[in-house]
Amino acid sequence: MRLRNVTGSREVIAENEYVIHDEKSMKGKWKEFFGNDNPLYIEIGMGKGTFIMENARQNPNINYIGIEKYSSVLIRAIEKRNLEPELTNLFFIRMDAEEIEDVFAPEEVDHIYLNFSDPWPKARTAKRRLTSDRFLGRYINILAKGSSITFKTDNIDLFEYSVETAEECGWNITKITRDLHKSEYAEGNIMTEYEKKFSQLGNKINMMEYFPPEKK
Ligand code: SAM
Repeated sequence: MRLRNVTGSREVIAENEYVIHDEKSMKGKWKEFFGNDNPLYIEIGMGKGTFIMENARQNPNINYIGIEKYSSVLIRAIEKRNLEPELTNLFFIRMDAEEIEDVFAPEEVDHIYLNFSDPWPKARTAKRRLTSDRFLGRYINILAKGSSITFKTDNIDLFEYSVETAEECGWNITKITRDLHKSEYAEGNIMTEYEKKFSQLGNKINMMEYFPPEKK
C-alpha cells in the first residue's frame, strides 16, 4: 500500500466513534462491547476497508473488527464507514498486529481474514509477514475452537511460503486454489481493493482456508 501522509488523519481517528481507542482494555470484553453473542470476525491489514464493510453489510449477525497499522490508510476506511452509521457490527482499530494477543483473549475470535498482506520479500524481514510462524503462533492463541483463517493474495511467492509455513506448523488446509475467480470458491467471494486492482491486470488470485492444530 502506497503511504502518503494524510494531514490531520491522526486527529480525525482520535475523535472517530467507529475506532476503538483503548483496544487493550477490550480484551475478553468484545461480546459485552457489541451487546450480543454473535461471532467475532477480524481482518488484519484491512487497508481502505472495502472488503470488511461489504462483509458487515451482508452479515448483520456477525461482528467485525478491521485492523490497520497506518493512520493514512485507516482514514480512508473511516470516510466510508461514516456514511453508513447503520452498520452497528463494524469497528476499526489502528494498531500493529504484533500486539493482537493484548487485544483479544484466548478463543475470542471466530475467524481471521488476511487479504493481500504485504509480502516482505527479503529474508531478513520475513518475520513481519502476517502468515509467518510467529504470527500463526499468535493467531492460535486468540482463535476459538473450530475457527480458521482465510488468506488471499495474488503474490505467488508469498502464497507458496504461506502454504509451506502452515504445513510446517501443523495447520490443516481445508480449501486451496491458485485461481480463485475460476474456482469452485468463486461464488460469494467478496473482492478486496487489491483483489480488484490485480485481477484487472490479469493476475490470478490465490486463496486458502486453514485451521490451527488441535490444542493438546
Ligand atoms: N487488505 C487490503 C486489500 O486487500 O485491499 C489491503 C492490502 S495492503 C497490501 C496491506 C495492508 O496491511 C496495508 O494497509 C498495511 O498497512 C497493512 N498492514 C501490514 N502489516 C500490518 C500489521 N502488522 N498490522 C496491521 N496492519 C498491517
